[in-house]
Amino acid sequence: MKGGKLIIFSAPSGSGKTTIVRHLLKQPELNLAFSVSATSRPRRAKEKQGEHYYFISISEFKNHIKHDDFLEWEEVYRDNFYGTLKTEIERLWAEGKNVIFDIDVAGGLRIKRKFPDKTLAVFVKPPSVDELKIRLKKRSTESEDKINMRIAKASVELATAPQFDKIIKNYDLDTALEEAHQLVAEFVGADIEK
Ligand code: 5GP
Repeated sequence: MKGGKLIIFSAPSGSGKTTIVRHLLKQPELNLAFSVSATSRPRRAKEKQGEHYYFISISEFKNHIKHDDFLEWEEVYRDNFYGTLKTEIERLWAEGKNVIFDIDVAGGLRIKRKFPDKTLAVFVKPPSVDELKIRLKKRSTESEDKINMRIAKASVELATAPQFDKIIKNYDLDTALEEAHQLVAEFVGADIEK
């Protein structure tokens, strides 16, 4: 596989990484395209097939695993599989884009290990686990049970932060957005005004 750079944003659910990734995608000089993952989790009301995720069944997902179609995949939560299809990255590289990922910590580190030189792996750190809980509740896309599952996983994920190239503290969103913008611009060699 050849092509542009890979920029990974990983963090516990509710840390704000999706907001940061969306902000970066709006910056034309970064020449980014979003890696749409495949997942077996149910689609949320506002999500679109092929835009937020490729929503597929568990059996389709397992079929892709069998055929070695994934660059990486994880059972992020029980029976909820998520993975990056090799074809997705090849497609975006063929378009001359740098690819940006919003994926879990284990998947992010896996890609970094596969492409150490062309990957920037960024960990987004929330102020605290309590704050995460508040944010997830406010978002109200998940049941209480699922929120608790995400919180339990968050503590494990936070411990992996030192393995990333950079850590961005998302205590204040505007500061985090600016820091992320500068970091990525430097990595892809884009000029931005400071
Ligand atoms: P959500 O269900 O909130 O959309 O995503 C749950 C978690 O799965 C998030 O941390 C998200 O970043 C992660 N995720 C999304 N796509 C992928 C993927 O392709 N691979 C891996 N390993 N994790 C993913």
